[in-house]
Amino acid sequence: MPVRSIVRLGHPALRTPAQPVVAERLSDPEMQALVDDMFETMLAAGGVGLAAPQIGLSLQLFVYAVVDPDAEPAAEGEEADDPELVALINPALEPIAGELVYDWEGCLSIPDLRGLVPRHFGVRVHALDRHGKILDYRAEGYAARIVQHEYDHLNGVVFLDRMRDMRSLAFGAEWEEFLTESDDEDAQVG
Ligand SMILES: [Zn+2]
Repeated sequence: MPVRSIVRLGHPALRTPAQPVVAERLSDPEMQALVDDMFETMLAAGGVGLAAPQIGLSLQLFVYAVVDPDAEPAAEGEEADDPELVALINPALEPIAGELVYDWEGCLSIPDLRGLVPRHFGVRVHALDRHGKILDYRAEGYAARIVQHEYDHLNGVVFLDRMRDMRSLAFGAEWEEFLTESDDEDAQVG
């Protein structure tokens, strides 16, 4: 499965609303290969989410990994659990009422920068899975943050646009040195 190249800020695909996927096309082997490539590309880049516009494609499709940022690291000699990989096609999000929560985000298309971004704590997700099955579920916390970040990519929006205060913007090394607690926290990157 080939890893695709990720486009960076300045590429018009990141600023163009993506086209819906025709559901019948999901049975096309090319579309299934694309979903596999997106998982591969996301994992190879060390991200937890990747949207089709980030590889230059105008399709309402993104993938993400369900990871628990507070999970205990695997003990020595123990395999870490593989994250569950999810692909969403033509998604729609419905915010669940509540206060916005701030947390750090990064983006594979905006390498090395981190910033504090407000997001809904919970969202209801309506989408198709990679086989065209209707999905309807709630995502909360970290997973909801990833889903909102990737969903924004389908509308030509990046996390910088969502920041309320650009003063938290930081490069990775400085962020680690000055802005995060010393434990093993990491900013989600999608
Ligand atoms: Zn991103």
